[in-house]
Amino acid sequence: MTVFLVGAGPGDAGLMTARSLELIASADVILYDRLIPDGALDGARDDAELIDVGKVGGGAQVPQEATNGLLLEHGAAGRAVVRLKGGDPFVFGRGGEEAQLLRAAGIDVEVVPGVTAGVAAPAYAGIPVTQRGMAAAVAFVTGHEDPDKDDSQVDWPALAAFPGTLVFYMGVRKLGRIAERLVAGGRPPSEPVAIVERGTFADQRTVSGTLADIAARAAAAGVRAPAITVVGAVAALHEELAWFAAGPLLGLSVAVTRARAQASALAARLVALGAHVVEAPAIRIEPLEAALPADLAAYDLLCVTSPNGARRLLEVARDARDLAGPAIAAIGPGTADALRAGGIEPDVVPPRAVAESLVEALAERPVRRVLIARAERARDVLPDALRARGAEVEILALYRTVAEPLSPAALESALGADYVTFTSASAVRFFLEAAGQPSEGQRVVSIGPITSRALRERGLTVDVEAAEHTPDGLIAALLEDAARG
Ligand code: SAH
Repeated sequence: MTVFLVGAGPGDAGLMTARSLELIASADVILYDRLIPDGALDGARDDAELIDVGKVGGGAQVPQEATNGLLLEHGAAGRAVVRLKGGDPFVFGRGGEEAQLLRAAGIDVEVVPGVTAGVAAPAYAGIPVTQRGMAAAVAFVTGHEDPDKDDSQVDWPALAAFPGTLVFYMGVRKLGRIAERLVAGGRPPSEPVAIVERGTFADQRTVSGTLADIAARAAAAGVRAPAITVVGAVAALHEELAWFAAGPLLGLSVAVTRARAQASALAARLVALGAHVVEAPAIRIEPLEAALPADLAAYDLLCVTSPNGARRLLEVARDARDLAGPAIAAIGPGTADALRAGGIEPDVVPPRAVAESLVEALAERPVRRVLIARAERARDVLPDALRARGAEVEILALYRTVAEPLSPAALESALGADYVTFTSASAVRFFLEAAGQPSEGQRVVSIGPITSRALRERGLTVDVEAAEHTPDGLIAALLEDAARG
């Protein structure tokens, strides 16, 4: 019986530790806070129980007692429990209290430290919290306490006298009083201060000033939690060392309509570029029972026409040896990569991921017997063209694409996004069946000509079409469009 108290880092998913990802992937139950990186739970098992104990906005914050109750209940049940917290679990994260509680109940605890916001947010703003000749010590302080409270746990005169950098967690609203108390304690009003809002997230912002004016500057800039406040000479290094560039998609929202299972990689890349991503999966991939022909080795060509087809093919095969024999053609780079993930190097990959282009790429190749691994319903361009050349063609239907019901809330956010992206004709069909038309002014992005045709057939204008028909190509096209304004 072990409960893992795990730090998820300050916000940039790239700052999650290898150990945290490993534990998330194996957990039965994950109790998570509000302030964890986007996509932090993507690696969780499909059957893992994910419990949000940091609900704010819609619901009230889950009280600590309720979280404690859940920890004890799941911990005692002997399940693999991960308690996932923002930053480091033992830095203003109540991890110590939770560990004591679990121990007292006879439940083992393991702690996985995380990158704490008090170091990471300044670092992403170009501020080293210690620096030779400038700051030989650093103090982490809670700014949550009311500086005027008599029983305050923070010794303000001692803090003001502290010989080094002060890093305040929380306390955006109390900034004015904090600065006053420090000045009253002897810190010069001209002492540099930097406030880092949403540090390490794509929309990180830094506001600089001095103890005398930081409260007014922060208020003018509308700084909100979460933010870290750095007080000390090092705060001025922000001007010299700032390196974090705002993502080119900052301020734009992008709706992703592709199947949930595939959306996360696309979404993560959009988030890294600064976009706000609205996940509105309109489709789901449903595997079909299928078996490879026993005499596959007698075929001279096996065509795989989508990444989903490639993944299903690798599932249906026992291992790569089952696919030995025929030459293998992938419809495009994405499908080729999905095959490579199973150790299969395709023999033919046309530059453009459409059936017409695969037909062209196969023009020189003598083909007699062909197996096409694909979705149940698909365009017949490829089988028709191969049959016209005299080949005997069989279809191996490996999956079907079905509608995924969208909640009214997801639909509303999707229709409120600046961009709505489509990565397949079936996503177009099912999204529009659920949503009706995109909103006025919303830009419609398509991954390629087949998807664009599906959009136009439904009377829509395609504003952006990817030149390379892959998620990366789609992002490149979207970036170009956004840069044009
Ligand atoms: N255990 C966390 C801190 C939890 S207390 C850690 O080690 O980082 C919550 C406070 O942390 C917030 O009010 C804010 O002051 C700070 N914080 C957390 N994430 C932050 C971020 N990405 N940028 C700036 N401050 C952050």
